[in-house]
Amino acid sequence: MSHIFPRHTKQNPPVAVRGDGCYLYDSNGKQYLDASGGAAVSCLGHNDRTVIEAVKAQLDSLAYAHTGFLTSEPAETLADLLIEHAPGDLDRVYLVSGGSEAVEAALKLARQYFVEKGEPQRGRLIARKQSYHGNTMGALSAGGNAWRRAQFGPLLIDMSHIDPCYAYRLQQEGESEEAYGIRAANLLEEELLRVGPETVMAFIAEPVVGATAGAVPAVKGYFKRIREICDQYGILLILDEVMCGMGRTGSLFACEQDGVAPDILCIAKGLGAGYQPIGAMLCSKQIYQAIADGSGFFQHGHTYIGHPCAAAAGVAVVKSLLGRDLVSAADRQGHKLRTALAAEFGTHLNIGDIRGRGLFVGVELVADRMTKAPLDPDRKTAARIKAAAFEAGMICYPMSGTIDGQSGDHVLLAPPFIITDPQIDELVGKLSKAVDAGL
Ligand code: PLP
Repeated sequence: MSHIFPRHTKQNPPVAVRGDGCYLYDSNGKQYLDASGGAAVSCLGHNDRTVIEAVKAQLDSLAYAHTGFLTSEPAETLADLLIEHAPGDLDRVYLVSGGSEAVEAALKLARQYFVEKGEPQRGRLIARKQSYHGNTMGALSAGGNAWRRAQFGPLLIDMSHIDPCYAYRLQQEGESEEAYGIRAANLLEEELLRVGPETVMAFIAEPVVGATAGAVPAVKGYFKRIREICDQYGILLILDEVMCGMGRTGSLFACEQDGVAPDILCIAKGLGAGYQPIGAMLCSKQIYQAIADGSGFFQHGHTYIGHPCAAAAGVAVVKSLLGRDLVSAADRQGHKLRTALAAEFGTHLNIGDIRGRGLFVGVELVADRMTKAPLDPDRKTAARIKAAAFEAGMICYPMSGTIDGQSGDHVLLAPPFIITDPQIDELVGKLSKAVDAGL
C-alpha cells in the first residue's frame, strides 16, 4: 500500500520511470507523448543533458547556502541573465521555488513598497475573474477560478475581480477588436473609482490566461490601456507569466508581444523546465530602491529561496532557450500546431475556438459551435478527455474554466519546444480520438 498522499485519492497513477525528448515512460514501458509539458513546465523536453550536467556540477561544488548569509554564483548569474533580457526597467530578481511563491512575493512586495513610500492606505489588489495565480492563500485570493476557491472562502483575502479580456465570449457583435480591448481594460478604471484609487496597490493579470481558460491572449491594445490606467492612478502592474513566460508564447516574455512592461513580473515553470523547482519575481529599479532606501529589508523569504542547484538549472535553461533558438521554435511549431488543429477540428460541432500564442494553445469545447453554449457545467467532460488521452498514451491538460458560468471546458496544450512535425501529427490524432471518446 502506498503512503503517498496523491492529488487524486480515487486514482492509482502509473509510476513514471524515465523521460526522453517529448515522451515519458512508466514502469510497464508504456510511452506517453507529453503534449502539455506536464503543466507547461517541460519546455526543453525530458532528459536534456545540458541542464542535467549543469545541476550535477553545481551539486558537486555547492548544494546549499542560506541567503540570509550568502549569495551564490549561479543565483547571481541567473539574475544577470534574466535582467539582460527582461522588458522595461525590471532590474532586480528575487529567486523562489515555484509559481505560487513568486506571486506571494509579488503581493507582499507591492504592499511593502507602498508602506515604505508612506502610502500605507494602499493595500487592495485588483485581479481578474478568469485567472489562476497559485494555490497558497494570497495567490488563491488573487485567482478568480470559482471552483478552486469555493471551499476556502473563509481563509481568503478580500480582493476585487473584474472581467477578463476574453474576446471569444465577451466581445460584442459589431464591436471592433480595438474597441473591445479598450472597453475591457476600462473595467479596471471603473473598479478603481468604485473602491477608491488611493486604497489600491496593484493590478495582477496573466498576459495569456492559462489554467483557467486555455491559452487566452488579450486582444491588441488591452494591456497598453491597462498600463496607462495603472500609471494614471499610481498603482503597480503585476504580470503573472508563471505559465506563459520563458519562451512559451514565442517570445521570451509574453508581455513583449503586448508592447508593455510590468512593475513586477512573476515567472516559474519553464524557468526550471522540470529539472529543478524554481520561480522568480522580477521588479523595477524604483520598487527595489524604495526598500533599499527605506528599511533595507524585504520582509519575506523562504528557506530555499535562491537555491544554487535550482539557479544552476535556470541558467542552463535560459542559455539553451536563447542559444538553441528554441523561442523561435516555439513560435514556429505553435503555428503548425494551431494549423493542424484547425484542419482536424475546423467544423467539429463541439470545438468552439482554437487559440493561443506559440506553443501555448487552447481548444475550447462547447455544446454547439454556433451558439457557443457551454458544454459541461458539471466538469465531467474534461476528466473523460484527459482519461481517454492518457489511455491512448498522451498527457494533455483538459480543464473547466468559469467566468460567471459562461465558459466551459477546454484542453490546454503546451508541448516541449523541441516537438517535431510528426509528433504534432501524433498529438492532433490522439487528441481528436480522445475528444470524441470523452464527449
Ligand atoms: N500562476 C500561474 C499563471 C499559473 O499557471 C500557476 C500554476 O499553474 C501558478 C501561478 C502557480 O504556480 P505553482 O504551481 O508553481 O505554485
